[in-house]
Amino acid sequence: MLLEVRDLRVEFQTRDGVARAVDGVGYAVDAGETLAVLGESGSGKSVTAQAVMGILDTPPGRITGGRVLFQGRDLLTLKESERRRIRGAAMAMIFQDALSALNPVLTVGDQLGEMFVVHRGMSHRDARARAVELMERVRIPAAAQRVRDYPHQFSGGMRQRIMIAMALALRPALVIADEPTTALDVTVQAQVMDLLAELRREYRMGLILITHDLGVVADVADRIAVMYAGRIVESAPVHDLYRAPAHPYTRGLLDSVPRLDRRGRELNAIKGLPPNPLRVPPGCSFHPRCPMAQDVCRTDEPPLYEVPGGRGSACHFWRECLRG
Ligand code: SF4
Ligand code: MG
Repeated sequence: MLLEVRDLRVEFQTRDGVARAVDGVGYAVDAGETLAVLGESGSGKSVTAQAVMGILDTPPGRITGGRVLFQGRDLLTLKESERRRIRGAAMAMIFQDALSALNPVLTVGDQLGEMFVVHRGMSHRDARARAVELMERVRIPAAAQRVRDYPHQFSGGMRQRIMIAMALALRPALVIADEPTTALDVTVQAQVMDLLAELRREYRMGLILITHDLGVVADVADRIAVMYAGRIVESAPVHDLYRAPAHPYTRGLLDSVPRLDRRGRELNAIKGLPPNPLRVPPGCSFHPRCPMAQDVCRTDEPPLYEVPGGRGSACHFWRECLRG
């Protein structure tokens, strides 16, 4: 297994108390595989990724438990210098906002080239040539000229391609993309997502795709982990999850996505809001919003039950949910 996260816990110290942002999360990604991590904002999906990458803001964020096994080594026990080396070359991250992730005062050619100078010891001339190749690979028109341009001179979609080029420059084994297309319009979103999926196949890298948009992941992900209030509430191969969700929250998300086969139906967004992380409800944290909630849900926290087909659901009534 390329990456295995086990029972990860992250807390944030706030003025009003301790917030458990990530509360016992586990997932795994193999080489060549795409895991989508789906959840509303504040569900802990980005914080989990930041803890995996070793870029969690500290303080106030603090990892209080768990393991992050990357190529068999627990990253949480490594020295920061070692982690930095892994982060530079073997793992990379793509962010939603390319404009703030790229350096505004360096040309994209210099930023891309710097990766090869610093990590591969290339001459500036060779590094520049590699930068142009990379820009061509992510299909930036007139790459040989545009390599001299600054980030702000590119459109949002082109900038996101440059971010992808930066992330893939050193052929990392694992890429984490946090809402990589959220800021783009729908047509450009699809193009960027296709490019990412294509490069993932070509480079056989593991990809973790973090998103709040179920519509984005159907064609590119192998598995989905659905997060709610700092936990994984459902985990399944993508097509199984679409066909028959085993958790009412997933069902609610599916019902709120416009789909071709459901055209004409009322959109049915989930009522209510995710809980304040300082005041997560007892029992099943989803119970105040759950249309299937019973008395037991208000008192007994569901474990992640094993569901046939290599799936998991943190719902006492996953069987009923599966049956629809
Ligand atoms: Fe709903 Fe109860 Fe299942 Fe939680 S455990 S998702 S409240 S049915
Ligand atoms: Mg986020």
